[in-house]
Amino acid sequence: MAEIQIKGVAKSFGAFTALHSVDMTISDREFMVLLGASGCGKTTLLRIIAGLETPTKGEVWIGGRRVDHLPPKERGIAMVFQNYAVFPHLTVFENIAFGLRMQKMPQAEVQRRVHRCAELMHIEQLLKRYSGQLSGGQRQRVAVARALAMEPEVILMDEPLSNLDALLRLEMRSELKGVLAESKTTAIYVTHDQVEAMSLADRISVMNGGHIVQSADPVEVYRNPAARFVAGFIGNPPMNFLPAEKVGSGRYRVAGTDVAGPDTDTRIDYAIRPEDLTLAEPGQGLAATIRVVEPLGAHTLVTCDVDGASFRAVIDSDSRVNPGDRLSLAPMADRVRWFDKETGLSVQ
Ligand code: ATP
Repeated sequence: MAEIQIKGVAKSFGAFTALHSVDMTISDREFMVLLGASGCGKTTLLRIIAGLETPTKGEVWIGGRRVDHLPPKERGIAMVFQNYAVFPHLTVFENIAFGLRMQKMPQAEVQRRVHRCAELMHIEQLLKRYSGQLSGGQRQRVAVARALAMEPEVILMDEPLSNLDALLRLEMRSELKGVLAESKTTAIYVTHDQVEAMSLADRISVMNGGHIVQSADPVEVYRNPAARFVAGFIGNPPMNFLPAEKVGSGRYRVAGTDVAGPDTDTRIDYAIRPEDLTLAEPGQGLAATIRVVEPLGAHTLVTCDVDGASFRAVIDSDSRVNPGDRLSLAPMADRVRWFDKETGLSVQ
């Protein structure tokens, strides 16, 4: 069992606080993705779990054992980093075997594990090649195979696909997901790429400014963002926001239309995802004037003006529209969300 518990972990670098008291539990065999913009503290948190950085405060537990005072090699983890540190002067076989040799594992077991992991990562045919002769994608597979060969209870990955081109990234993403699901490893994966996070994670922890803003499964994070920050960070294009003016108990005026909303006295904003709008008869939705039309294939992204605010909608590409056209955009009622203007938190 390799449940990971992070208890009140904080990290300061001089006067700068990179992490503010983070609490988090990652279940045995869970695939957790830490997602956030550059500088939000995700690498720092991963390095603390790995033992490459000492927390200023707090505790790290892996599999029921407190590990924050242990060196990295005694924590039962394997790591794959962005620059993947594959040794160019060693063959692929020796790269994958590297950690096992350090442990003085018997040759027969080394053979078994290297072949098994090479097979998992589809690189058996490369075992005799020197790693310096491989493409970036192949080297990346070697790095993952090397980590898996250790049969770790926990695997930590920091942007492991970031050096790959778009197509290879997509391919490796599905492979990694399949391999890790089979390997029964608990995984923590750091990325700033929300699509990667959505596609890989059992659970996503969205980070901002050294805090975890929301931890939930990908669909929940997407559909029910806990904060405006999450709503704006996840989804491409992000959610639309419009100011809401309270006109009665649970009634609001939004861009000239009357809308039912939460019964609260705090000032709130109305929010809707661009794909959660449909074209309606004039007067039946938000009145929009198209500024820019971007065909995306199956859908068309339109950027409009709604009551003086910039507003995006994703519509079917069969609806031929042009800049200057006026549309009526009807939100799907169950997809409307509300956020407190001051705190940015979701209001229901
Ligand atoms: P990125 O995606 O760019 O790697 P990140 O979310 O992983 O970003 P961290 O690397 O965890 O961010 O850094 C969090 C903050 O802590 C940043 O503002 C960074 O400048 C700062 N920081 C990290 N390491 C150190 C250090 N050794 N000394 C001082 N500041 C640091």
